[in-house]
Amino acid sequence: MGKDSLDLFGAPREVRVVPVMVPLPVAKPYSYVVPDGMHVEAGSIVQVPLGPRQVFGVVWAGESDDKVDPKKLKSITAAFDCHPLTKDMRSFLDWVASYTLSPPGLVARMALRAPAAFDPEPMIEGLRLTDQRPERQTPARLRVISLAEEAPAWTRSGLSHAAGVSTSVIDGLVAQGVFEPVFLPPPPVTALPDPDYGAAPLEGDQRDAADQLVAAVRSASFSVSLVDGVTGSGKTEVYFEAVAEALKLGRQVLILLPEIALTPAFLERFQDRFGAKPAEWHSDLAPRTREKVWRQVGEGQVRVVAGARSALFLPFDNLGLVIVDEEHDPAYKQEDRIFYNARDMAVVRGRIGQFPVVLVSATPSVESRVNADQGRYSHIHLRSRFGGAALPDLHLVDMRRHPPARGGFLSPVMLRAMEKTRERGEQSLLFLNRRGYAPLTLCRVCGHRFQCPNCSAWLVEHRFRGILQCHHCGHNEKTPDACPECGTLDHLAACGPGVERIAEEVEKSFPESRIIVLSSDLSGGVKRLRLELEAIAKGEADIVIGTQLVAKGHNFPNMTLVGIVDADIGLANGDPRAAERTFQLLSQVTGRAGRTGLKSHGLIQTYQPLHPVMQAIVSGDPEMFYEREIVEREKALMPPFGRLAAIIISADSRADAEAHARGLRQAAPPVSGISVLGPAEAPLALVRGRYRFRLLVHGRRGADMQGFVSTMIQNGPKERASLHVQIDIDPQSF
Ligand code: ADP
Ligand code: ZN
Repeated sequence: MGKDSLDLFGAPREVRVVPVMVPLPVAKPYSYVVPDGMHVEAGSIVQVPLGPRQVFGVVWAGESDDKVDPKKLKSITAAFDCHPLTKDMRSFLDWVASYTLSPPGLVARMALRAPAAFDPEPMIEGLRLTDQRPERQTPARLRVISLAEEAPAWTRSGLSHAAGVSTSVIDGLVAQGVFEPVFLPPPPVTALPDPDYGAAPLEGDQRDAADQLVAAVRSASFSVSLVDGVTGSGKTEVYFEAVAEALKLGRQVLILLPEIALTPAFLERFQDRFGAKPAEWHSDLAPRTREKVWRQVGEGQVRVVAGARSALFLPFDNLGLVIVDEEHDPAYKQEDRIFYNARDMAVVRGRIGQFPVVLVSATPSVESRVNADQGRYSHIHLRSRFGGAALPDLHLVDMRRHPPARGGFLSPVMLRAMEKTRERGEQSLLFLNRRGYAPLTLCRVCGHRFQCPNCSAWLVEHRFRGILQCHHCGHNEKTPDACPECGTLDHLAACGPGVERIAEEVEKSFPESRIIVLSSDLSGGVKRLRLELEAIAKGEADIVIGTQLVAKGHNFPNMTLVGIVDADIGLANGDPRAAERTFQLLSQVTGRAGRTGLKSHGLIQTYQPLHPVMQAIVSGDPEMFYEREIVEREKALMPPFGRLAAIIISADSRADAEAHARGLRQAAPPVSGISVLGPAEAPLALVRGRYRFRLLVHGRRGADMQGFVSTMIQNGPKERASLHVQIDIDPQSF
């Protein structure tokens, strides 16, 4: 506090100064004076002047330790009447900033992202029944009154609607004093979930697993559990017990899901169990809804949130449990501005808030598996599918021995299985993780390949839309008839398949079948995708052809054949995590089959049937994969046995990017156990017209990667305006 102004009697008066974190790339909070009479506390959301602008910010502590003369400081403009961010939340934001080496202001911004303004939601005008009764009792009036007795208050339109009378009847009653106006709080975004509503009796393994989680929730201390078991073993049912326990204890719960916008079935299932839906949180919410959810989470009115990774930054008041479903999913990694993995940050949030975190997956990440093996996480295993539903019978189709017909991509073995499935009136799913018609188009005469002018990537043909498109920057052009290089007409060849091309092949073989192609290109966005997924679940398609959108969480009861068109795609790219990704994706997709009692099959087309990943998949024993993969990682000191950080340098000029990368490398301090690889061109060397170089920092387990990288940046060359340096601690692909 500074002693500067004088009060009425000439005595020095304390001026209160607080640190305010503004949502900009700043390294620390700025100090502001709290005007007389304004109430702010640590965590309050305020508006402050910053240069010529007014911005929102968070009061970071109750008092500033800044020694600046308060006369030189500006004052807070306004304080908002909304719930302050808790101390845990502020510590969490600080932690994320220092772990990811991101400006704390930008991390704080993630927690402020929702509301456009922080004014309280307006109250609603309502009506309440008084003791007064009308002079003349008509049947309509009596109906209104007897209905109104059932609830403490009503809105005018709600009451007229429910009673089936015009609003003039209501107005007449108000005029006679039968109703009096009242103000009602804004309605909650969801009803309160009831922990006892639809509890299912658990079976065998499930009971023990649920008991362990419930005990963890009761202990109200930090722990991490890994719940691992095949799709359909009842993992969701089991973690719902932990959710119920947290609700009974009055705590809030966050359930993270990788594709919440595309899994409305999850919300329904939650409702069946708890009698109310959880609040949803993802980027497709309407702005008004986002604001409401954000505010009601802060006020504790919302008890359970089911959300995408950004839900971790909601201002929970009393968080007591986080579930990370499909914890291995790459969608948890954000690679934009702030590079973070929501799974890992969820664990940090639990440690700061002293509550349990539950990671759930049929195919856990190698990191989580090792943490469980080494005893840092408790490992909870569900061994079989619920109710004896059989896992699909999996077979590899050796494409060298059973090649497709000329110009096709489906082996006769696959086509025969699809035919049989159709005869039984059941559904098939063909999976190919490639959008569009063909990943590469070339001229058969001169060999010209269509490449993106802004990126080092081929243009992908989208035949339904008649365009060639870049999947990195969105550049697109009409598919030409002639080669732009040699001018030859009608000699352009599509190379390789995308889902559209598979659809074309399927249509030829099954002209009578109802076919649905599902990929993120579908016009109509998330809404349309939801409708298509519902249609499939209802049996309104015979054959579904889809990208990884179909892999996640959907329950298609009549789906008994899953065909993997090209199991080798993900193995080719030289990424050390490729085996893990392929194993997880293929397990997940084949797990879409046989969710009910019907006998089901999975066929996996591959040119490498002896590859350990393929062998592990068909063996039905995930251990075959994990044991081998863990040994390999340990030998190579790859995560989690070593640590990685990537530094990506991009610039308009290739030479500038490369020079800066070299400069950074030279600035690396000599630290034993940490080494720098590169610079080398980044896996995508040109994106949106910017050249990219990458340095990879490798350290032993426990190495101070953040300290090392910060030193490189501090001692390295100054960043010029057109140059951009991104730091990715624990990169996904390496
Ligand atoms: P997972 O999350 O492991 O894929 P789920 O929890 O979705 O498994 O369970 C698979 C199916 O079995 C679901 O339809 C679920 O409702 C049902 N199920 C699992 N356990 C039980 C149980 N104890 N009682 C009734 N139904 C159950
Ligand atoms: Zn491009």
